Amino acid sequence: MRLTVIGTGYLGAVHAACMADIGHDVLGIDVDAEKIKALAEGRPPFHEPGFADVLTRALASGRLRFTTDLRAAAAHGEVHFVCVGTPQRAGSKAADLRHVDAVVDGLAPHLRTDCLVVGKSTVPVGTTARLSARIAGLVPAGVRVETAWNPEFLREGFAVEDTLRPDRIVVGVTGPDADATLREVYAPMLAAAVPYISTDPNTAELVKVAANSFLATKISFINAMAEICDATGADVVTLADALGHDTRIGRRFLRAGLGFGGGCLPKDIRAFAARAQELGVGPVVDLLERVDEINERQRTRTVALARQMAGGELTGRRIAVLGATFKPDSDDVRDSPALAVASALHREGAEVRVHDPVGAANARLAHPHLLCGSDLALACADADLVLLLTEWDHYRDVDPARLARVVAKPLVLDARNGLPHEVWRAAGWTVKALGRPAPSDRLPVPQSAEPLRTTIGSPAGRPHVPSAAVTALPS
Ligand code: NAD
Repeated sequence: MRLTVIGTGYLGAVHAACMADIGHDVLGIDVDAEKIKALAEGRPPFHEPGFADVLTRALASGRLRFTTDLRAAAAHGEVHFVCVGTPQRAGSKAADLRHVDAVVDGLAPHLRTDCLVVGKSTVPVGTTARLSARIAGLVPAGVRVETAWNPEFLREGFAVEDTLRPDRIVVGVTGPDADATLREVYAPMLAAAVPYISTDPNTAELVKVAANSFLATKISFINAMAEICDATGADVVTLADALGHDTRIGRRFLRAGLGFGGGCLPKDIRAFAARAQELGVGPVVDLLERVDEINERQRTRTVALARQMAGGELTGRRIAVLGATFKPDSDDVRDSPALAVASALHREGAEVRVHDPVGAANARLAHPHLLCGSDLALACADADLVLLLTEWDHYRDVDPARLARVVAKPLVLDARNGLPHEVWRAAGWTVKALGRPAPSDRLPVPQSAEPLRTTIGSPAGRPHVPSAAVTALPS
């Protein structure tokens, strides 16, 4: 099929290359001429494992081309995928839909044949209906344009895999023709028994924001538990393991730490709450504001703990920050919790050096006041404190004994629970982490042989020992 993919960022570029890879004839369009040039030359404009291979393969097949010309897109596509950004609107929590609107405004007047416009960007519920009316007002007489929504669930770091082998495909359509067209687009996935959910556009739009809201809630839930663990000496990792064995709950997205960031989750839950307000059902999703608050609080909590570890004062302290991207296996630094913490430390007078295996260049662009690089020894040289803020595998594999010889003080704050703490402690490091008691912070173990439950609400003077703290003690 002849497809266009409009907006070739993290989502669109991968979608375009993968659609060509499964046999479609694809034209990718973006307003960013540099990005288009790079893609056309087979140079990925961002870090995404496996993307370079699929891009090279698709270009070599002759089924993938790129342009900045929207008229060419109008002439090419039977199906036009809209993949442009939907960031948070300045001064508001709502989504900024100006890029989506610009695409349909630019495309519709040039359409000369019947076609399907399919949104993949994450948008507020009701957007398909609104755009459908907008397109109808712009398209030349006699041309029939259908509109549908097909939200994207790919994860950065696994984008190629998630596009070629998604957990499910959701399409929001208003009639059987659009459904049939999308079944044809995704025929190889359907043949591989990927669940295909065909519904109305409102439901499809909602599936995406509901999924992201659920994931954000799960992360903030475990981070709230981490804070309770810090107040009680309990261990959030053991707690999460125990919760995760319950198949109704599951262990994924229960990694306590610095919280979520990136170009999706934070702005998506805010846009959802804003849209619910507009619809008069705001209170129903009030919890998303708490989820957002808990998430933001992990950043201030991390700064506070760093300050405490640095002796109560950050001015003049040399701090090495490990990780700049919002998550590992990506170079995306949009709303990166790591960089938010690094900037806060910098504002308090610390000398911050940020290390990231692939995101240093983007971090420098976004935060020119920070020193960012990809040499770990240089970032850690003479550091008074090391902070792990993005859980790249790279850091788990670092030899802590060697790193201890580089720093001024072997003090590490693991804000992602991503390091093997016992190995680091054995190498001479003092390790602190969110929601995990350091051995010296743990409450005393009762010496008597009494059952633990008798210590709860027991006579004055006896320490209250939460059971999770006891099970977390090393044998
Ligand atoms: P991005 O910023 O990487 O890419 C957006 C691209 O759109 C940019 O290259 C930009 O130049 C281009 N663009 C803007 N206006 C344009 C126009 N008028 N015509 C053509 N191109 C235009 O953003 P992204 O991360 O790819 O996200 C895009 C959408 O997909 C968002 O709605 C996002 O929420 C959603 N999404 C993203 C991911 C992800 O992991 N990145 C996953 C699922 C959904």
